[in-house]
Amino acid sequence: MKSYRVTLIPGDGVGPELAEATQLCLEATGVKFDWDVQTAGMDVMASEGTPLPERVLESIRKNKVAIKAPLTTPIGTGFRSVNVALRKELDLYACLRPCKSYEGVRSRYKNIDLVIVRENTEDLYAGIEFQKGTSEVLELIANIERLSKRKIRSDSGVSIKPISVMGSERIVRFAFDYARQYKRKKVTAVHKANIMKFSDGLFLEVAREVAKKYPDIQFEDRIVDNMCMQLVQKPELYDVLVLPNLYGDILSDLCAGLVGGLGVAPGANIGTNGALFEATHGSAPKYKGLNKVNPVAMILSGALMLRHLGETQAADRLEKAVADVIREGKDVTYDLKEDRNDPTAVGTREMGQAIIKKMRATANG
Ligand code: NAD
Repeated sequence: MKSYRVTLIPGDGVGPELAEATQLCLEATGVKFDWDVQTAGMDVMASEGTPLPERVLESIRKNKVAIKAPLTTPIGTGFRSVNVALRKELDLYACLRPCKSYEGVRSRYKNIDLVIVRENTEDLYAGIEFQKGTSEVLELIANIERLSKRKIRSDSGVSIKPISVMGSERIVRFAFDYARQYKRKKVTAVHKANIMKFSDGLFLEVAREVAKKYPDIQFEDRIVDNMCMQLVQKPELYDVLVLPNLYGDILSDLCAGLVGGLGVAPGANIGTNGALFEATHGSAPKYKGLNKVNPVAMILSGALMLRHLGETQAADRLEKAVADVIREGKDVTYDLKEDRNDPTAVGTREMGQAIIKKMRATANG
């Protein structure tokens, strides 16, 4: 039987506990894995001088598929986010965030099944910024005033918003290819093209062109502010959303909120040369080592990985077992209980075991 070589980054904080539960659930599907375990982050910084050693990148480049538990980014001092660096170094240009309702998760909405496709490399997130008062920003302001014949206050800081044809084309294509592969009906491009004509306007223009090549899938566009209101009022009207980086960031959290929050929000970062699967949430350091937090977001990220590998039946089995355990509401972590202090809540490990048991029971039944 085929065995998949997959890079596994156990993370820190609650990461290693989530990684262990996820690894066991993935193995219980019957799919064979040959794990290439690669540590990264704060602990590695102390011993190897960098939080993201080249060996980690090499491993993902070679294996092309990785699953990662959350990693802590120290605030103020220390290094930049390893999570962001990984996406940049490997050019993982598409961030995929399915947001689906599971019966038993507390939420104001039911039957939500949305997919967010967020561009990961451009926009205000590109990190091109000029600090107030520096010689660079004053030179930039002078040049902009000369070229645009508009005034910018001299005590301004400036962040740049680049959006390219190439970047827009590949993310919109990704959204349509995803829609086609997973039998989705509609792609909605989200923008503010009425105001930012040369960045968001370009994104929209490219999206309209790409849409013509996919006549089997509906296409429409929405202005981002209207989109936020629509998602709150009638989320059932939407299917796959494709967005530039910043709007994608904000709407991902909005949509995670629609389905009950971070504990059940899986994700993936995908590029031409590799794919990295990870939960949306962080390393929740205050719960480290307590065997307490919800493993579902990382386990569902594992299900996304199975689909990416073409192991559709295994992914379906795993997702169904997760849904059954959540619906029954017995062997679930504190955050999925009606009362967060409910003493019958189980730990990370036990919830993982309940999911495995459910898969086995279905297979035998
Ligand atoms: P966080 O997601 O780690 O935690 C915020 C709160 O959400 C937690 O205190 C907890 O109450 C809840 N929560 C999160 N995950 C949960 C789970 N699985 N089950 C139950 N409850 C859960 O966000 P934060 O506190 O802002 O960040 C902590 C660290 O994680 C930071 O260093 C941050 O940079 C990092 N981070 C990493 C990633 C990543 O690895 N991709 C993503 C986001 C944040």
